[in-house]
Amino acid sequence: MDILEIIDKKREKKELSKAEIDFFVNNYTNGNLPDYQISSLLMAICLNGMSKKETFYLTDAMMHTGEILDFSNVKGIKIDKHSTGGVSDTTTIVVAPVLTAGGFKLAKMSGGGLGYTGGTLDKYLAFNNFNPFLTFDKIIESINKIGLCLVGQTSEIAVADKKLYTLRDVTGTVGSLPLIASSIMSKKLACNSDIIILDIKYGSGAFMKNKKDAVKLAKLMIDIAKKAGKKVAGIITDMNQPLGCTIGNLFEVQEAIKILEGKDNSSRLYKVCKEICIIAFKLGFSLSESQASNLFDDLINTKRALNKLNEVLENQGGDLSLIHQKDKKPSKYIYATKNGYVSKIDTKYLGYFVKEIGGGKNKIDDKIDINVGLKLKCEINKKVDKGDVLCEVYFKEKPSTEQLKKLQNSFKITKFKGKRNKLIAKVVY
Ligand code: URA
Repeated sequence: MDILEIIDKKREKKELSKAEIDFFVNNYTNGNLPDYQISSLLMAICLNGMSKKETFYLTDAMMHTGEILDFSNVKGIKIDKHSTGGVSDTTTIVVAPVLTAGGFKLAKMSGGGLGYTGGTLDKYLAFNNFNPFLTFDKIIESINKIGLCLVGQTSEIAVADKKLYTLRDVTGTVGSLPLIASSIMSKKLACNSDIIILDIKYGSGAFMKNKKDAVKLAKLMIDIAKKAGKKVAGIITDMNQPLGCTIGNLFEVQEAIKILEGKDNSSRLYKVCKEICIIAFKLGFSLSESQASNLFDDLINTKRALNKLNEVLENQGGDLSLIHQKDKKPSKYIYATKNGYVSKIDTKYLGYFVKEIGGGKNKIDDKIDINVGLKLKCEINKKVDKGDVLCEVYFKEKPSTEQLKKLQNSFKITKFKGKRNKLIAKVVY
């Protein structure tokens, strides 16, 4: 088989066969094909797309370049959830203990931040000495003992994705539905759970900029999961403003813990977490909407979900001492410069800002500072007067004038209200 023929075929908008897809995935993973030829093929895929059949073959080929986790010795229903990535998205820290306290088994694998989006793995730094790097034997032992472990994505899973994602990141080929769907689903299917709940974000702080594309991506990923014999659902959620009220690893985890402690039952983060759990309980235990909702409330009110998280922390060596430390004073405030409504928030820049001031990695070996970040004092369509605080900024080293100006400009204030999207736009099965 010849890679040039495969590139030509995709350039001519023709459908690739399973053998051709297996060929380029396996040979690229093994180092037998150079970056420049695969870059060219990826760009052809970006421009000309892939059929559902091709996307399924691509997912399958990528999944088989690594380990497929074997949970045959774990009793009970295994569940997994995945967010396509956003800003201030701390759902895993709430959802994982709730689902496990409710009866599921969950080995939650998460990655670090990607671009301006935060990564759950980085948020675990707020759990003080927590170890998210467990061997597979320890993962199985933890699941059998307490039902849940929170770990980093191992490099043995979907090996091709790591290589392909790195290449896509530097060749302008991230934004392609079949490439995103196969990248995410190859990892999810390798984790081998019975149920997968997908949280597909759209808006200024997400990879998918509009709802239509988010629904398309959801349907594609759901199709792939169903073909692989999984129970699956997708929730389409708005990311035109950060999901939580804070950005920064410590602050975000504090928000999540507040929900588990029963101190927040109205925020946007709370609503998305509850909806994900309701969908999971309906799919997994055949509960009605109200039974699933009551189960969620009960797991929070009785502190069973919070206790489950504490069991995980005990098992993996962390604690909540940093979460409960006294709040520090903000380093700076961003004020409204006129009267009006906050009609738009540049969510992507807020994410970048926190990363740039040390809340994420700018270089591979950077150390993340969990104490830096933003606390928002406004949301879309809040009425503000000139001089009102829009957000508090926490930093160690003062950001540049340009960074602060960009932060200020991230909040658009207009005379009339802007478009406010539904937080949960759609649930797709
Ligand atoms: N997340 C992934 O894992 N892959 C993508 O392609 C995009 C987001």
